[in-house]
Amino acid sequence: MALINEHYLKLSKNYLFADIAKKVNAYKVSHRNARVISLGIGDVTQPIAPAVIEAMHRAVDDMATKETFHGYGPEQGYPWLREAIVKNDFLPRGIHISADEIFINDGAKSDTGNIGELVRWDNSMAVTDPIYPVYIDSNVMNGRAGSVNEKGEWSNVTYMACNEENNFVPSIPNHRVDMIYLCYPNNPTGMVITKDELRKWVNYALKNDAVIFYDAAYHAYIQDSDIPHSIYEIKGARKVAIEFHSYSKTAGFTGIRCGYTVVPKELTAQTMDGKQRLPLNPMWLRRQSTKFNGTSYISQRAAEATYTPEGREQVKATISYYMTNARLMRESLTRMGFKVYGGENAPYLWMKTPDGTTSWSFFEQLLYGAQVVCTPGVGFGPSGEGFVRLTSFGNREDCEEALHRIGEWLHV
Ligand SMILES: *Cc1c(COP(=O)(O)O)cnc(C)c1O
Repeated sequence: MALINEHYLKLSKNYLFADIAKKVNAYKVSHRNARVISLGIGDVTQPIAPAVIEAMHRAVDDMATKETFHGYGPEQGYPWLREAIVKNDFLPRGIHISADEIFINDGAKSDTGNIGELVRWDNSMAVTDPIYPVYIDSNVMNGRAGSVNEKGEWSNVTYMACNEENNFVPSIPNHRVDMIYLCYPNNPTGMVITKDELRKWVNYALKNDAVIFYDAAYHAYIQDSDIPHSIYEIKGARKVAIEFHSYSKTAGFTGIRCGYTVVPKELTAQTMDGKQRLPLNPMWLRRQSTKFNGTSYISQRAAEATYTPEGREQVKATISYYMTNARLMRESLTRMGFKVYGGENAPYLWMKTPDGTTSWSFFEQLLYGAQVVCTPGVGFGPSGEGFVRLTSFGNREDCEEALHRIGEWLHV
């Protein structure tokens, strides 16, 4: 008899974006002529850089002749892409990562969800609140999160509140945890972590023999020169951290699919009997070779093209387009009297709702008052209550029109 994995039954349905769509549709039905603008888009919208498109065309042509055809590639990714990553993403920051510490994947979501396989199911874990839901849900699926209470909190998860008081960087837990998920620049808050703050986490992990899963999906949006792009900028991080990168937000690859995970060779964990410390890098290679057959050759050629001189310029121009949207949004909304966080080193703005309005009630007011859609912050965790997330991934004209409407709605 096949019995199901009952941990799946504990998962809550992720209603957030479905609920938003339902409410927006209800509005549209009763306001047929309204043109609703979304500042809630969680996906990129601008086309792929021409240098990347050309590389993909060439890669497709490679498949057409016997001499240049590519079948299965190495599970870990093609060496030319891993070398390009070492040379472009790490060496210029003084970080020494070797190509065999890099694992190419089909985007960061898969690996942030799968990485938990490397450590025992009963390790304790800590996450920031608000949070990208993958970190918790993937641990619910393997039983590590424990049981859930009526507030939606899991018994084996430590929630680290990110709020105005701590500038959206959580304080170190006052007890031991084995696994820590951090994401900076952060989705949803758009806030960043300084080197000094990040150093505290690395030191905590070194002291407590914990492992940090560091999601750097938005590092390309960092504008301030003193904000770390990688946790490996911190001394000692190679011993305690696994880092996730993605071309999704960096270069608009949400539909192409490519990213990578760094598992340094010094990163080790103990066996249950305490007799051995073993490196996680060979374990991840074994895992990938068994369960993953590599990212498509075409996607990897596309990723490689983001590092060519033209590719870099073009990718940078798109990021700068989104960051101009973010600046316009930040400036206008601040002028209108809103308290706005983020949006300086990330494509997300985390806006405080006025006068203690709840996230959902402000969502409705904004929709009915200005025909603008935002994402209620509480959908990302309890600490998100009283905030909404705005994204700068839209078109400039829509962004400007939305700001104009919000101003008219508020008479400011
Ligand atoms: C978008 C995003 C990713 C990237 O996901 P892909 O699978 O690479 O498209 C990773 N982490 C966070 C927090 C994200 O918002």
